[in-house]
Amino acid sequence: MKRKTGKGSAWVTGLLVLAALALTLWPAEGRTGTCPTLAVDICNAVTNPSITTDDPAKDCDEDGFSDHVECYGFDTGGSSVKHYYGYNQSGRPTDRASYLDPTGKDLFLAVAKDNPSNILQADLDYVAATLGSQLGVVVHFISSTDFAPNPPYNIRQVTLDSLQKGVVIVENSTTTTGADRTTLGLTNPITTPDSTSLTATVFTGRLESYVNETVCPVATYPKCVTSDGRGRQSASDTTGLATLKQIYHRQNIIHELSHAMSLANVAGGHQPVETASPYNNWIMSQYVYSKPYAAVKKTSEPAKQVFYIPFTYQPGDATALKLK
Ligand SMILES: [Zn+2]
Repeated sequence: MKRKTGKGSAWVTGLLVLAALALTLWPAEGRTGTCPTLAVDICNAVTNPSITTDDPAKDCDEDGFSDHVECYGFDTGGSSVKHYYGYNQSGRPTDRASYLDPTGKDLFLAVAKDNPSNILQADLDYVAATLGSQLGVVVHFISSTDFAPNPPYNIRQVTLDSLQKGVVIVENSTTTTGADRTTLGLTNPITTPDSTSLTATVFTGRLESYVNETVCPVATYPKCVTSDGRGRQSASDTTGLATLKQIYHRQNIIHELSHAMSLANVAGGHQPVETASPYNNWIMSQYVYSKPYAAVKKTSEPAKQVFYIPFTYQPGDATALKLK
């Protein structure tokens, strides 16, 4: 994710970066075999539930977890073995986030928080809720130590019986005074979770520095809010500023996580989020855009900075995403 102020040069740079990354997009995959509609029928078609491995290509929902795993569960291979329930296992929890389903996309996500951290569990819950409601992807949180890095497992692999590896998003909370505030998140390459070369980072310290000191210095812009009015309402409103930054942090995580599911703007580049843009308010088209309103505000208002932070995916994102 890149931020954008009112200057055009930063936008041009961002478009060039995205154009280069877009070359790594994967070709479309075909659905293999014939898949029943109901999970119970898919599970009944699994020939031998008791075996420990099965053909990873038998994956009706194409999320990188085989029908075998999604019906009969698995144990992680990491340092602390943890069981994840499959749809057809007796005693499985009823909460969808607590089991895998062969008819719905499942994603394993580890967030490696920095110390100190700017990420709360409530933020991760928001991320999971957004992916669930807008993309139909169920997020299963896992500790990065529960991955099994040693052979025969590959890096970030949660089970041998599947293609999908987990996504790890690494937080970097180092604050900065330099020009590197320009990049607040970086996923390389834009790819799928099964790629061994995938790295995803959110630079939460840069975001804090950027908002606190570059865009929303309290003396210059006592009011600093989102386009729908959330944020610091006055110089003394420290809670409001924390709210604004939390909204920004959440979107930053969602944007980078989406790159790890191969999503990029279908138009080929990050776009500024402004009302004039046809790409406004789409998560994958953002730059987050901030704009000072000192020149156009009513004289009775304090100087303010307004952030345009998108909250929705664009048409086609839910079907374009890839988990393997
Ligand atoms: Zn991006």
